[in-house]
Amino acid sequence: MAKATTTPVVIAPPAPPAPPAPPAPPAPPARAAAPVAPQRTVTLTNRRAQTLPLTLEHDGYCRALGTCACVPTLFQVPGYVPSTQTRAMKNDDRRVPISITLLPKASLSGLPEAVLAASQVRSAIARDEIRYHIDPPGTSGGKE
Ligand SMILES: [Zn+2]
Repeated sequence: MAKATTTPVVIAPPAPPAPPAPPAPPAPPARAAAPVAPQRTVTLTNRRAQTLPLTLEHDGYCRALGTCACVPTLFQVPGYVPSTQTRAMKNDDRRVPISITLLPKASLSGLPEAVLAASQVRSAIARDEIRYHIDPPGTSGGKE
């Protein structure tokens, strides 16, 4: 009588438990002398043969810059004087976004990296009208 041969099923021994992860080294203490990374600067190059003015609007540029670079400007706007029920020009103090102007086929360097957040700059880059590169450290500000 032939016995059916059965292939013994080898059950692999359970894998040894993974060694416990070594404890994370303690974070180095923050030293007051740690240098603060200077704000990077960029160079914009106008590829067109025309002058290219670019507004650095508050919502894009100032937010990326971390401070408002807009210029306080006093406007005269039509207004209404309730006490006399007359119309009169009145002063309106507003902040106006700054702008840069790229001359034809020229480069402008040392600009805060935040200019890349300005919508007109991004649009010009997308249209390939301007090119940009991050300035190497130490080349901005004229020091070194
Ligand atoms: Zn602003």
